[in-house]
Amino acid sequence: MATTASQPAPPPPPPQQVVADKDEAQGLKNIRDFLKVRTGYDVFPLSFRLIVLDTDLLINKSLNIMIQNSIVSAPLWDSHTSRFAGLLTATDYMNVIQYYCQFPEEMSKLDQFRLSSLRDIEKAIGAVPIETISVNPLLPLYDACKGMLKTRARRIPLVDKDDETGREWVVSVITQYRILKFIAVNNEHNTVLLKRTVRELNLGTYTNVATAQMTSPVLDVIQMMVHRNISCVPIIDKDNRLLNVFEAVDIIPCIKGGVYEELAGSVGDALLRRPEDSPGIYTCSEHDRLGAIFDTVRKSRVHRLVVVDDENKLKGIVSLSDILAYVLLSPVD
Ligand code: AMP
Repeated sequence: MATTASQPAPPPPPPQQVVADKDEAQGLKNIRDFLKVRTGYDVFPLSFRLIVLDTDLLINKSLNIMIQNSIVSAPLWDSHTSRFAGLLTATDYMNVIQYYCQFPEEMSKLDQFRLSSLRDIEKAIGAVPIETISVNPLLPLYDACKGMLKTRARRIPLVDKDDETGREWVVSVITQYRILKFIAVNNEHNTVLLKRTVRELNLGTYTNVATAQMTSPVLDVIQMMVHRNISCVPIIDKDNRLLNVFEAVDIIPCIKGGVYEELAGSVGDALLRRPEDSPGIYTCSEHDRLGAIFDTVRKSRVHRLVVVDDENKLKGIVSLSDILAYVLLSPVD
């Protein structure tokens, strides 16, 4: 249920070029070895909260819970079967919005839809569900990361089994952000070896970047994100200067209380609804080294970096999945 797209794009191709620099190759190997001996459990603090939603909950109510608790995803639980039932993410709300656009006559029924209807909504709009994976938190993080890259999931639930009852329980949700932060915090001696620049690594996407303007209708931007399975769209002015970034999570406050009519507004209006503690946008230049990007990840809540030139003109996007793919998949010997 979590990650769907009308035309799911293939996972980013693994970097092909062998890492020639000995130090850099060693840094990457060390990080991979680190991920092979750490598990999902290692990433979490001793105490954390997890909000799990029952699939019988109304979709509109789930939105309020997300907003009140400042969360952007939640594992779903089917209390009829006592089983984990997928992950609710901003993509699911985008599908609901698509449904609303395609079947406006169904609008009055939207209030009654429950989280268990999300699959039907997916089918009705022709979205192809991408495999929803979960991983056992006792498995090496390396495997969880590979699974994420393969399915393009930006987050995966960690699901364990109770030894005595054999019952499943959802431990937590692991995100690309959390994994990269974990690498950055524990591997400063290795990330410092990653001296090649964003341009040298050709890290990220530089062609056919999906963009919008402040005046673009927010619905158009949502459609673009669903069709291309991307988590953000840079907002630029008429001279290609970066003004902001519209993210998948930005739609949640837009449809608060189930008021879908407000989506008729512009991206600019939608961005005004962002919560005050929103982390803001991060940029980098093509000349920044990957090690420096890891420094930023270590210190801040970075979910992606927009690559700009000296005049703040948009050049490309470096997503966390691009960084993870380079760190895990680039050939080192
Ligand atoms: P993400 O959606 O952030 O998980 O990124 C998935 C892939 O899409 C990565 O290779 C990104 O570089 C790329 N990507 C992210 N946002 C955009 C965008 N607005 N336009 C084109 N490609 C993008």
